[in-house]
Amino acid sequence: MVDYEGVPFILDFLPQEDPDQTRIHKFYENLREGRLTTTRCNACGEVLWQPRVVCPHCNADDMDWMDLPREGTVYAHTAMLLGAPLGFERDVPFVIAIVRLDLGKDAPLHLFTRVDDTTFEDLSIGDTVWFKEVDCGDGRVFFRFTAQAPD
Ligand SMILES: [Zn+2]
Repeated sequence: MVDYEGVPFILDFLPQEDPDQTRIHKFYENLREGRLTTTRCNACGEVLWQPRVVCPHCNADDMDWMDLPREGTVYAHTAMLLGAPLGFERDVPFVIAIVRLDLGKDAPLHLFTRVDDTTFEDLSIGDTVWFKEVDCGDGRVFFRFTAQAPD
């Protein structure tokens, strides 16, 4: 039996949370504060997901960080039953979804995420889900959504 503890960290060749490796590290710093954020291009105004350092629309590199809504709606979902990514084999089955975040006057943003505290059968398109930060247990953080409303 192979022990996969630590394997995902080993595969993180250029740690995205490290300021020496990437300008996206702010995304993870914000996650540690419980904030889901992304970048907005100051040149053309596009809201970018995932956060970027160069705008794919106009090639500008002048970005501001912006907070995203803490709740969204399920746009599509499925369940991971087999073939989970390395390090997640023991978590199956789990739900993954495209979640729609309403940005008001800006176009809605769709992000791909894991959704906790539900099953494929119990979740429906249009259901509300809530952002949650996740401590990866090895010093890193990431995010998921949950089907359980916050207290
Ligand atoms: Zn732009």
